[in-house]
Amino acid sequence: MTDSSNTSPWSPRKSAELYGIDEWGGGYFGIDDDGDVVVKAPHNGHHTAVSIPQVIQGLQQRGLDMPVLLRVENLIDGRISALNDSFAEAIGACGYQGEYRGAFPIKVNQQSHVVAEIARFGERYNHGLEAGSKAELMIAMSSLSNRESLIICNGYKDAEFIDLGLQARRLGFKCFFVVETLAEVPIIIERSRELGVDPLIGVRLKLSTKVEGHWAEDSGDRSLFGLSTIQLVSVIDTLRDAGLLHCLQLLHFHLGSQIPNIRSIRAGVLEACRYYIDLVEEGAPLGYIDLGGGLAIDYDGTGSTVSGYSRNYGIKEYCVDVVEAIQESLDAHDIAHPTIVTESGRATVAHTAVLLFNVLDVSNFDPAPTPSELSEEWHEQVTNLWHIVNKITLEGLHESYNDVLYYRDQVREAFHRGDVSLRMRALAENLCLAGLQKIISLLPQMKRIPQELEVLPQQLADIYYGNFSVFQSLPDAWAISQVFPVMPIHRLDEEPTRQAIIADLTCDCDGKLSKFAGPEGESSTVSLHPLKEGEEYYLGVFLVGAYQETLGDLHNLFGDTNVASVRINADGTLDFVHELHGDSVADVLSYVEYDPQAMFKEFRKTAEQAVRDGRISVSERQQMLSAFTESLRGYTYFER
Ligand SMILES: *Cc1c(COP(=O)(O)O)cnc(C)c1O
Repeated sequence: MTDSSNTSPWSPRKSAELYGIDEWGGGYFGIDDDGDVVVKAPHNGHHTAVSIPQVIQGLQQRGLDMPVLLRVENLIDGRISALNDSFAEAIGACGYQGEYRGAFPIKVNQQSHVVAEIARFGERYNHGLEAGSKAELMIAMSSLSNRESLIICNGYKDAEFIDLGLQARRLGFKCFFVVETLAEVPIIIERSRELGVDPLIGVRLKLSTKVEGHWAEDSGDRSLFGLSTIQLVSVIDTLRDAGLLHCLQLLHFHLGSQIPNIRSIRAGVLEACRYYIDLVEEGAPLGYIDLGGGLAIDYDGTGSTVSGYSRNYGIKEYCVDVVEAIQESLDAHDIAHPTIVTESGRATVAHTAVLLFNVLDVSNFDPAPTPSELSEEWHEQVTNLWHIVNKITLEGLHESYNDVLYYRDQVREAFHRGDVSLRMRALAENLCLAGLQKIISLLPQMKRIPQELEVLPQQLADIYYGNFSVFQSLPDAWAISQVFPVMPIHRLDEEPTRQAIIADLTCDCDGKLSKFAGPEGESSTVSLHPLKEGEEYYLGVFLVGAYQETLGDLHNLFGDTNVASVRINADGTLDFVHELHGDSVADVLSYVEYDPQAMFKEFRKTAEQAVRDGRISVSERQQMLSAFTESLRGYTYFER
């Protein structure tokens, strides 16, 4: 904390700086004068703000308890507009002769309300959908009404997949099969002859351009997907022989997700353009160039390529760079400008959902008051420890740290031998805590902090127990150590004085959040407020709209959370558009093949036997049975 924060009172402004909300919020989130987090919905060039604590109140009145996934429909619209408008601007500014067509990759968020909203709002931009499986293609065909919008089919395709896509063609959809493997080509040829439909075909390239970040493996020669140059030549020959080369209209590549560096994107586009030029010379008409996904999100607010959870460019720069690179490459060969397609998933939906939960409890490592005087009765090593703790100074900080641990361990050994009593050991452990906390308080004044001491604040950080499951709601935080912005959604006019990590309900060592975006980069703790007696404390995890919902699992049988979709009106009022109650206990039990009714019958038998044996009364039996039924119907999370 800076010196000024000690002298001037805390303010929402300081909270905004501390949590970096203006950096990662993309303009959609902020803090109001009362210290509440607000969602800012774009409305004709200005914003309408609604406070999240107010939304929570509305949810509670509607019986939706914590945890809740809050989806803001306006933000879906806002992101679709931002993407399409930015491309339109770049195309206009560069004098590019082609158009832009977006295709939202359904795998990034398959929830029907999300896809429906993308299809509805995206219609004005001819925004389409990308499908990676038969199920997703069926979603695309039943969601889109605009025949100008694209349907892009990626992934391995069997005859049934291809038949579905050919039917989509018949119905007037611009439905592309992107060839990922040689094996698909004969099936496409055979099925389109059989059904008498000319297919629209794309080829997925395996580029040599490598990207940084978590998906570096997706790029380069070893990438799992796409055709090598050898395979590409073979596809061209096969299509030409079949008289279908005129159907090859799209060139596809996907460098990976969350590409941190704009230079990799530019390099990838330039490399793809080389293929584009030669494919045209081979006689393929083309007309579409599809960049796949990769447009990154600034999860940690650093705006840099260092962490992998951010990027060194914005959406406008992305669009200009892509348009310019294609234009320059193709103009040199007098080739007409193609329609630019992107399959931006993360960038379209990440901002649109916030996970909200309450804190159930806190455990901390604060010492109880320590004795101000020595006692004759103490064990010698406890006395030594007391002396050390009482003379900790900045100058000898590292040495004091070593001494504190040394004497603590001496006491522990003495305890094992039976020379120190339980109470004496507890006294020593408390002295040790007091010493370590004193050391932590002096750390900021140290010129260079030794590594051993640097980790102390995390080792002694508070543990805030949140009413949620990392595995269900934030699977990427567990699986790929993804950083998501986490902060309190109220009390931001008060200084958050505690350093904490956040544990979930699963009682699994991995069920925690211990990597946070801080003002000075990644941090192992987050600043939170002390709990207030009789008052809920709410935290929000932001930018969770991409990938998290379907990847989440049933660890410890915590099920889907409640979901609320809201729409913010221009006058600041709120429509609760969809309310979805999360899984009940009976739901999650049936997912793992239990039969809740059979379980109830078994329980009833056991209870009846207990009545017969005289252990419980009949009325107690009735109470137990109704409690059991109630539990089956209940929410899987902690209910107050
Ligand atoms: C996953 C994926 C995307 C989406 O990537 P984002 O980085 O989320 O935009 C797009 N296209 C393909 C082929 C993908 O596999």
